[in-house]
Amino acid sequence: MIHEYVGNLHNHSIYSDGHGSHDQIALAAIQAGLDFVVVTDHNVWVDGMDGYRFLGKKRVLLLTGEEIHDQVRDPQKNHLLVFETQEELATYAADPQNLINEVKRAGGLCFIAHPVDPAAPLFGEGDLSWVDWEVSGYTGLEIWNFMSEFKSHLSSLPTAFLLAYSPKRSAQGPFPEVLERWDQLLASGKRIVAIGGADAHAAPYRKGPFKRTILPYEFLFRAVNTHVLTKNPLVGDAKHDRLQLFHSISRGRCFVGFDLPASTRGFRFSAQGADNQAIMGDSIPVRSGVTLQVKSPRRAELSILHNGERVRTWKEQDTAIYTVRSPGAYRVEAHIDFEGNRCGWIYSNPIYVT
Ligand SMILES: [Zn+2]
Ligand SMILES: [Zn+2]
Repeated sequence: MIHEYVGNLHNHSIYSDGHGSHDQIALAAIQAGLDFVVVTDHNVWVDGMDGYRFLGKKRVLLLTGEEIHDQVRDPQKNHLLVFETQEELATYAADPQNLINEVKRAGGLCFIAHPVDPAAPLFGEGDLSWVDWEVSGYTGLEIWNFMSEFKSHLSSLPTAFLLAYSPKRSAQGPFPEVLERWDQLLASGKRIVAIGGADAHAAPYRKGPFKRTILPYEFLFRAVNTHVLTKNPLVGDAKHDRLQLFHSISRGRCFVGFDLPASTRGFRFSAQGADNQAIMGDSIPVRSGVTLQVKSPRRAELSILHNGERVRTWKEQDTAIYTVRSPGAYRVEAHIDFEGNRCGWIYSNPIYVT
């Protein structure tokens, strides 16, 4: 039995440059229907916040991670999302490989945040892409960061104004360069887990009579989320449930879902071999062939990619079956129409056929 939990792994509070408290973030997460939310403030691990927060009978598991970067580096680059270390590691920020090694030593997971992050000079926002690609040992990539994509559209004041009022129109999918990078890493034999995040700050913006909170928490928690599959259910004990969630995330038992056009809950990607079964993140031996199965919560354009190459696409289907006989990393993408655009909707983690 597989259980699915939806959460958001990248958010900022008043402990760094976000504008909401942990309680406000938890409340927004409950209202958006999330099961868990992780606060990842810049270069500070905030201890003592983890636990379930309640609103009536609804609850959300609030957890604390951290987003670490070298604050002295010029220009600013290389943001790393860190989870499950239960200690402050920002002091290792100067050397990204050393930082990744320390995260591993502390038993944590780490993800390259917004690997591509275009500048928005009109708003004084720099390019915070990852540049030190020779590093190894990280858990994965944040393939879809809502904030980075939003930033990429802020090239003129009228567009910025339009998107401030209708931010849903800014989201179309991960940057192609990021997916290419991920696929190259997968094709080279590495296991790289994909996650998606809001990077919520909920910043107030004022210009003359114009006053608006840019990308409020609750809006973002209904947008790009990470859906985690666990073998055991969450039980309501914060420590037990935290370990369950991050155990699955570390193995790639998760997918990135854009829940704004339609909920992606219920998406499944699995594999059936002669005598083995696998879900996202698992390996399965190819032997005489492996049948990949895709199940989508609604009709969409479904594609299967093998080491980055699109091997099969189905138009408007909610199920797909495909038999493979070559080893490699297989992943699924689903696209749908939303706000006049062809939009990325679901990005599965790979099943590794060996
Ligand atoms: Zn960042
Ligand atoms: Zn961030």
